[in-house]
Amino acid sequence: MEYIQNYINGALVAPQSGNYINNYEPATGKVYSLIPDSDANDVKVAIRAAEIAFPSWSRLPIGDRSKIIAKIAQLIEEQLEPLAQAESTDNGKPVWLAKMVDIPRAAANFNFYATAIQHYSADANAMSNTAINYTLRDAIGVVGCISPWNLPLYLFSWKIAPALAAGNCVVAKPSEITPMTAYLLSKICIEAGLPAGVLNIVHGYGHTAGNEIVSNPAVKAISFTGGTQTGKTIAKIAAPMFKKLSLELGGKNPNIIFADCDYDKMLATTMRSSFANQGQICLCGSRIFVERPIYEKFKKDFVAKTKALLVGDPNDATSKMGAVVSKAHQEKVLSYVELAQQEGGTVLAGGQAVQVAGRCKAGYFIAPTIIEGLAYDCRTNQEEIFGPVVTIMPFDTEAEVLQYANSVEYGLAATLWTSNVSRATRMAQQIHSGIVWVNCWLLRDLRTPFGGIKSSGVGREGGFHALDFFTEPKNVCIEY
Ligand code: NAD
Repeated sequence: MEYIQNYINGALVAPQSGNYINNYEPATGKVYSLIPDSDANDVKVAIRAAEIAFPSWSRLPIGDRSKIIAKIAQLIEEQLEPLAQAESTDNGKPVWLAKMVDIPRAAANFNFYATAIQHYSADANAMSNTAINYTLRDAIGVVGCISPWNLPLYLFSWKIAPALAAGNCVVAKPSEITPMTAYLLSKICIEAGLPAGVLNIVHGYGHTAGNEIVSNPAVKAISFTGGTQTGKTIAKIAAPMFKKLSLELGGKNPNIIFADCDYDKMLATTMRSSFANQGQICLCGSRIFVERPIYEKFKKDFVAKTKALLVGDPNDATSKMGAVVSKAHQEKVLSYVELAQQEGGTVLAGGQAVQVAGRCKAGYFIAPTIIEGLAYDCRTNQEEIFGPVVTIMPFDTEAEVLQYANSVEYGLAATLWTSNVSRATRMAQQIHSGIVWVNCWLLRDLRTPFGGIKSSGVGREGGFHALDFFTEPKNVCIEY
């Protein structure tokens, strides 16, 4: 049984308490490794190491910082196969998906910020013939990065890379449900020559290790991705200390399909936006609104394709979907299918757990599920399910579908399918969300602002937005 270790002050270490948490493989339901059950004491040591490392790391010439970060990216690329396998074992997602999406994106995150920091500049404001103002962007100090289980290394590195590039030292905690690739990243950082204390990775629960990162006054900023409820807890603790906060939270995204869309492209993409990663992507479109003239055709085709999706062993290249992340999550998702039926919905496809034969017979699988016949404002259509469950609803007018789309407390991402550019522009303007995809989904350019409004979060990641978050602007005014 492998013991995962914390990465503190440049070394791999056991938790001070000696306690560990079982780490389950979702595809088999078996414990396959042990996670440090770190507490406040481990986090305090990590924070101290980060404080000590900060002066020299933040003063290192940008080119030198950049080289080390690029080296981390290179090592991730070289270890694509074992990292993808580890991500799949830990999370339940198909190996091919981790190999195609998660791990390449983690490498891209480090590569992107290794170069972005070299192009990051600040303003100068001249006051006619009297003075010049210029803005410095200083690293903040010790910052905390806390991430969820759905895209483990992908989202962990999306925070760590800009934090380090900007010159901060980091205390980071991956999800206790999927810690393995963060542990492997520790080894990569050691190999890449990252100085001791610059990045510290502490494993454990949110209410213990996570809480200390958030509440310790020495940690000056928190970048968090996870559930809206956790985001509220974090904001309550951090706000009175005036910590900088970046919160990427839940979603309940609309997928709006007009009759004039490119039907085949829409159908193929809607399969992905509904069920990719077992529907466990914060950007998945879980509420599908279809213009009435094509509703019946869409329903028939979408149901047929969904019933044909192969749910199976994540190690098998033919499996289109793997396991959901945990037993508790499987139960939560299936409880929403029950709720949907109580609310008057009809299950058109899926709706139950799937038993996969062989080594996966005790794994946590769910059949991709489509539900129709629900009101837009029922609980099933308002609360985040975060699994392979979507609802479909017909609509007649733009005004009506906008009301449905905007009725939820969330505002992360929306997808629009139409060939009418005027309509796309009009709708995009009126949809309450941080991201709108028109005739595509999850097409990502790392330079763009990423994040949500309403209960989906505060602040933006991506591009220079993340570097703005991880630095403090200081204006210097010189009169001459
Ligand atoms: P979660 O909120 O339960 O946990 C996220 C992280 O926070 C974990 O590392 C956890 O240990 C930690 N944590 C929990 N309680 C804490 C506390 N009191 N103090 C400090 N840290 C604490 O979320 P999850 O179940 O891991 O992830 C699923 C959620 O994440 C969904 O709601 C999903 O929409 C959201 N998500 C959002 C985005 C986005 O970009 N907006 C991306 C991915 C996932």
